[in-house]
Parts: sequence; C-alpha cells; structure tokens
Amino acid sequence: MRRSIEILEVGPRDGLQLESVFVPTETKIELIRRLDSAGLKRIEAVSFVSPGKVPQMADAEAVLAGSTRREGAALTGLILNRRGLDRAIAAGCREVGMVVVASDSFSRRNQGMGTEDSIDAWLEIARAAQHAGLRAQVTIAAAFGCPFEGEVPVPRVLSIAARLAAGRPTEICFADTIGVAVPTQVGTLITATRRLLPKVALRAHFHNTRNTGYANAHAAIDAGVQTLDASIGGIGGCPFAPGATGNIATEDLVYQLERGGISTGLSIPSLIDTATWLERVLGRPVPGLLAKAGTFPRPTTASPVA
Ligand code: ZN
Repeated sequence: MRRSIEILEVGPRDGLQLESVFVPTETKIELIRRLDSAGLKRIEAVSFVSPGKVPQMADAEAVLAGSTRREGAALTGLILNRRGLDRAIAAGCREVGMVVVASDSFSRRNQGMGTEDSIDAWLEIARAAQHAGLRAQVTIAAAFGCPFEGEVPVPRVLSIAARLAAGRPTEICFADTIGVAVPTQVGTLITATRRLLPKVALRAHFHNTRNTGYANAHAAIDAGVQTLDASIGGIGGCPFAPGATGNIATEDLVYQLERGGISTGLSIPSLIDTATWLERVLGRPVPGLLAKAGTFPRPTTASPVA
C-alpha cells in the first residue's frame, strides 16, 4: 500500500513573518489561493500576535476574511496568548496553533515567561479553544537545540510533551527552530514520544539552516510523524542565523516524497509555479531548488523527440 503524509504549509505565516518589507494583504491572499489550489489542505495563514511585535502579520483578520478555501481545507492561525485566541475566534479561524519553547531562556525571550508557565498557559488556552469549537494544536519550539542553552535533553522535551498532552491537542509538533537537528536525534525523540504518547498525533517542523532539514524530515516519517511542515520556496529565515536558509521548501520536500512512493496529494507543477511567482513578488531568488532544476521525469511532450 502506498504511504501518505500530510503537509502543513507554513509559507504565508512562518515564511513571510521575517520579511522586512510589508507584503500587501492582496498578495498574501493570492499566495494562500495558489497554495490551496495546489492541493494543500492545511495552511498556516496568519498569526494573531501583537502587531507591534510582528508588523508583517498586522493584517491577519483581513487576510483570513479575504481567503477562500476548498471544502475540507483549513487555515490555521498562530497564537501566543488568550488575546490571540480571542482574535482568532472573532476572525472565524477553525484551527489554532500555540507555541511552547523547550528551553527556559529562549521561552523567556520569546514568550515573556518560562517554559512551565507557558505550559500552564497552553492548558488554559486549549480548554478555551476547544470550548469555542476550535481545533487546538501545540508546537514545542527549540525541541532539538536552543540558541542560548545549547543541547535540550530528550527527557526534558518528553516531559513537556506529556504535560502538553493533558490539554488534548489535536497534535503535538516538534520544531527545530534554529535548524540544528540531525536525523538520528530526530528518530530518537519521535520514537520515544510515540512510546510515551501512542495516541497523540505527531508533526515535525524542520529548517534547512545546516542542510539537514530534508534528511530530518525523512527520519521523522520513518519514526512515525503523520504531518510535516514546509514552506513554499523555502522562505522564512532563522532569526538566530542571519542570512541562513530557513524552512524546508514545500516543492523540494514533495518531490522527494512523491518520487520515493509517499503520496502528498499535492500538485508539483502548481507548487513550482507558485515558487516562481513568489520570486517575482519578493524580488529575489527563493532557497528551494526544484523550481530551478525542474521536476523529473520531465512531463511528456506531445511530439516525441526522434
Ligand atoms: Zn520555521
């Protein structure tokens, strides 16, 4: 039987978030429309965080209001607190994702509170989100390494995951926020989590900062994740490695999976088109390689070459 993997597209939020020039609302809506028509059923479209902190996401409500999606497709919103949840509910968002950072130092800088308090915040927000009829999932950021504390021990990440699971998330995601993970580490953490929390759906989020992102994605699949995050064109940076490549590129990942017999339900030509369109919109090349190299085998032409 052919295996399948779900891709959660994060380009519109994680990908665009660090863009220094404001991307017009209409362009964000067009990006989401293109991703939707390429077959993506889950798209991280916006974040409901303070516009003062992330000006690029200040138009979250307008982006959601202007975006259409196919039947069964979901646009997700990132939230960090109760205020974000209230905005997401008011905007008609059906799925929210929250972030808990695995290391205390990073958590204090990013969320303004330590990991423990952040877990308590998740438990409260998850309850409120579920009460309002939303799907609530949670990401453990810096699960494979912290820019301030270095290695994050596996038992620590496991105990965080176990506490988060008490909030009944629709899934738990492990994020390599600074792009330091290697495949063996990914396999160890995901396998241990599956043993500890066999009923919880797992997702993983990798950056290609050190060229390990795609190998990590394959290791995560082998260890049993059902969903992988990816960003069209590989856009989105790592704030702790200026100039470095960020998220793994959706089209490159899909090429690897489909050619390897793992189905994604996505159209590679549509993804390539969108990556190329995005280069024009951003005015610079994107990190993804498939749009440059072309897919393989080449689509067959009407007049065969003799
Ligand atoms: Zn990312």
